[in-house]
Amino acid sequence: MLSKLALLISVAKGELPADLILANAKVVNVFTGEIESGNVAIYEGRIAGVGDYHQAQQVLDLTGKYIAPGLINGHTHLESSMLDISQYAQAVVPRGTLALVTDLHEIANVCGLEGMRYVLNCARRLPLELFLMAPSCVPATPLETSGATLEPEAIRQVLRWKGCIGLGEVMNFPGVLGGDNSVLSKIILATGKVVDGHAPGVRGKDLSAYIAAGILSDHESVSLEEARDKLRQGMMVMIREGSSEKNLDALLPLVTNKTYKRFLFVVDDRSCGDLLSDGDIDAVVRKAIRRGLDPVRAIQLATINSAEYFRLDRLGAVAPGYLSNLIVIGDLPSLEIDMVFYRGRLVAREGKPLFFSYQPASRGLTNTVNIKPFNIEALKPLASGETEPVIEIVPGQIITRKRLQMSIQPPVTHLLPGPFSGSVVARGSSKTWTMNIREIT
Ligand SMILES: [Zn+2]
Repeated sequence: MLSKLALLISVAKGELPADLILANAKVVNVFTGEIESGNVAIYEGRIAGVGDYHQAQQVLDLTGKYIAPGLINGHTHLESSMLDISQYAQAVVPRGTLALVTDLHEIANVCGLEGMRYVLNCARRLPLELFLMAPSCVPATPLETSGATLEPEAIRQVLRWKGCIGLGEVMNFPGVLGGDNSVLSKIILATGKVVDGHAPGVRGKDLSAYIAAGILSDHESVSLEEARDKLRQGMMVMIREGSSEKNLDALLPLVTNKTYKRFLFVVDDRSCGDLLSDGDIDAVVRKAIRRGLDPVRAIQLATINSAEYFRLDRLGAVAPGYLSNLIVIGDLPSLEIDMVFYRGRLVAREGKPLFFSYQPASRGLTNTVNIKPFNIEALKPLASGETEPVIEIVPGQIITRKRLQMSIQPPVTHLLPGPFSGSVVARGSSKTWTMNIREIT
């Protein structure tokens, strides 16, 4: 260890050759917002220096392309991709995501701590840094029939795991405001670590109370005014752009020269289809640039801001001592990622992963989907009167509205085409609407 450090210092001083030099680069400096020309010297997975370096085992001429830090996804549930962690890494690493902060509450809902351990073990073999937030709300509500319940004692255990950096989104804001013992115990257990929030529509004194409990961030604002309240009261605002929840357009005007250090980009939930066609955190950066944000500023919100908020050691910048998790970009505004380096090793090129890793899940983690026999009768709403309460989906958001809807008479008339796929068309006495059912295969 000592000798490695001494050697890194010698490489930085230019006295010893680096392992790799990425030469003729335009380096995105996330500290100053500048773009500097220079060579990046890498030794043992770390950056030794940026500047006038020439001696190395290997020199790669980037011919004027840009180098930026690997992107950091500051809040995501990788299970929402519907991919195993290995496949997930193959999808996101070529997109430049080299670190993610994940709250594994989806797998924890099904398999508890064993499921989380499985993901963490697999991640060790993959070219990305995975940081865990201990899931604070498993199950998310008492109305769920979950496979596990994480009580404060389990959270105490998870918070001690290597790679666990804090308490995941405290979705139970009514519990915080009502002084629920279990939720407050979890927050107290995470003292000294990062505690993420989840407070859709919480405003005024309720918001003050929620923040006073020790919750540092939020990713649920859907309006500029709501996000401004949270920003003013000291919250780190995560601008979320997922598959079904899109807040970038509403919140981006809040990002100014004065405020930008208090924002970071996250995806929360992205489907594998969107990862493939649109991308991961890179897609959010790209969209922000299209909406007029300076490209370097957009990269700051996906790198150094996330690293500083989560206190990620030596991540999020291209600078001496930092891990050499880097992306090489051909065209900066379109964030066209040519190469991806993880700890100095080329792990993806032109959108293709150069690694493979697969670990089959243990028995206890498979065959966990248990449903009762299902038929079309199950789709019939149980109408009891003229109207019935329904959950209305808000396009582009995950918040929902409660609505009273005319009862369906007769209930369901067509199912097109076969079972579990296509659309159910139900004709009521005064309304017709379509309910899409995702194909299950
Ligand atoms: Zn979330």
